Amino acid sequence: ILSVKDLGKTYKSGNRSLTVLDQVNFDIEAGETLAIVGPSGSGKTTLLGLCAGLDSASKGSVQLNGKALERLSEDERAAVRNQDVGFIFQNFQLLPTLTALENVMVPLELKKRKDAREKALELLKKVGLGDRATHYPTQLSGGEQQRVSIARAFANEPKILFADEPTGNLDTETGDMIEKLIFDLNKEKGTTLVLVTHDPELATKTQRIIHIKGGKIQEDAHA
Ligand code: ATP
Repeated sequence: ILSVKDLGKTYKSGNRSLTVLDQVNFDIEAGETLAIVGPSGSGKTTLLGLCAGLDSASKGSVQLNGKALERLSEDERAAVRNQDVGFIFQNFQLLPTLTALENVMVPLELKKRKDAREKALELLKKVGLGDRATHYPTQLSGGEQQRVSIARAFANEPKILFADEPTGNLDTETGDMIEKLIFDLNKEKGTTLVLVTHDPELATKTQRIIHIKGGKIQEDAHA
């Protein structure tokens, strides 16, 4: 479902440039679960963003569900994201002017689902937040915001789910709940999971661990 070839990313600001990914290669099969681990600043979040079509590569290619992302316009990439991809951001990235329910409705409305409201409420109930539908992000705890962002990522029934530190900064109980929701999605719907995590325990629950350091893959280990 995902094929990454000779991927490179260099950030440029003014006359300075910083290469954060260099010659990265791997393939992920549909239904696979995988963790990307490595030290802070090693390029994990950047890699996830490139794989999900949130940002464009400086070198190489990303093929996502049969589409070469580098050949697409920004609008076409957005369409691929809406269609095939779920993304759980490290800092949630909920829209502050929308309620919990409205945030979850966004991907459903993009797909022009007439039952967007009912479906969004069902997803909020699934993550245990049926009673927080009308709350705004600032009225929710960190764990609750993370659960809203998970409900939103699940909404378009993605083929592949990318999650950046999905259990970071959460208490054990909330972290366990989120972990279960994500892995259940893989079991029930066959959704491919790509998790970036600093939590070794979470990483060992996936089928495969890619270790990244200084923007290069150090090890690609199958369980
Ligand atoms: P962490 O585990 O701390 O989240 P990470 O492995 O996810 O780190 P990235 O967020 O991918 O690392 O960042 C890799 C490097 O790229 C860092 O040195 C960071 O400062 C730099 N970087 C990230 N985004 C940008 C940007 N938009 N412009 C310039 N530099 C950036």
